[in-house]
Amino acid sequence: MGKGIKERSQIKQIIPYKPGKPIEELQREMGISNVCKLASNENPLGPSPKAIEAIRDAASSVNLYPDGSCYTLSLALAEKLDVSKDQLIYGTGSEQLIFYLCAAYLNDGDELICADPSFSMYINGGQIVGAKINLVPVDADLKNDLPAIAAAINKRTKIIFICNPNNPTGTINSKAELDAFMNKVPEDILVVLDEAYCEYVEEKYRVDGLDYLRAGRNVVVLRTFSKAYGLAGLRIGYGITTPEIVDSVSKVRGAFNINSLAQKAAVAALGDKEHLAKVVKANSVAREYFYKELKRLGVSYTSTQANFILMDLKKDDKEAFNFFLSKGIIIRTADIYDFVNYIRVSTGSEEDNKRFIMVLEEFLNK
Ligand SMILES: *Cc1c(COP(=O)(O)O)cnc(C)c1O
Repeated sequence: MGKGIKERSQIKQIIPYKPGKPIEELQREMGISNVCKLASNENPLGPSPKAIEAIRDAASSVNLYPDGSCYTLSLALAEKLDVSKDQLIYGTGSEQLIFYLCAAYLNDGDELICADPSFSMYINGGQIVGAKINLVPVDADLKNDLPAIAAAINKRTKIIFICNPNNPTGTINSKAELDAFMNKVPEDILVVLDEAYCEYVEEKYRVDGLDYLRAGRNVVVLRTFSKAYGLAGLRIGYGITTPEIVDSVSKVRGAFNINSLAQKAAVAALGDKEHLAKVVKANSVAREYFYKELKRLGVSYTSTQANFILMDLKKDDKEAFNFFLSKGIIIRTADIYDFVNYIRVSTGSEEDNKRFIMVLEEFLNK
């Protein structure tokens, strides 16, 4: 054994992201085959058939490096979003862009603000570069408490992450709330609007972070192909921002970070509006089903604009997690966010949702 190597002091405190348990792992552990996973907000309908075809077509060219600029995808996105190609940045999932933004902008001792609970990768991204993390609890409706976040801004604040709709609560801040917030944020603070779930938002609640970009603000809007587009396994997300911010991120990114299959599949997925509409529709049907059944069972839940629901079981969440596991269902406890007794459940296929409700009923009657 060699002598231990000391890691950077800044990363000592970091808790590695704990992903939802993979299906195969539970199948191996339990010796069962019909495992369902409602833990990672994945798309139960799968990717667009057009994306699958594009992956097949592209498979024989994986001996070549991918296009480091994602040219074709940028053309498609620029047209769809009415932005210029030089306003787009890509990551292996928008998760990677969170890290890139932190690496590009946070000096040791700078401060990052985000809600608690929210997507835990903001915390990890800031901690890696030695930033101070300023967590602002969500409000009584479990929404980003934007007035409190604005009030928390100080001279060290450099980046604010707003997840809208918020993960794990599923709540959304309105345009009026965001407008008022943006008016209070100094121009030299970077506001990252993480819209990983924007496709699932109902028309009447829809807010578009691009409005602030068009108004000339230092904003990055993060979106992903992992959720509604069903390409989580390929790892591709994107950001829309100013050309200056794109240039800064380009300094910290890997030259070929987005693989060729992901680029081709993303272009095809964008072109399949029918599939996306089907996914969104199925998700709203699933949400309604959950609401109806949770009411029947007397379980309190938070109305969601995403593809997952936060439930307050008023019973130990770890016990619930293990009970569901024993029945072959993988869910997510919310305890990493100090929300004891809460679980977060992704909308699954019709069959999986029914199975979840059956097991939930069994758990509550235990
Ligand atoms: C899922 C998710 C992402 C993106 O995931 P990637 O697969 O890395 O694109 C980003 N933000 C939030 C809040 C998410 O829930």
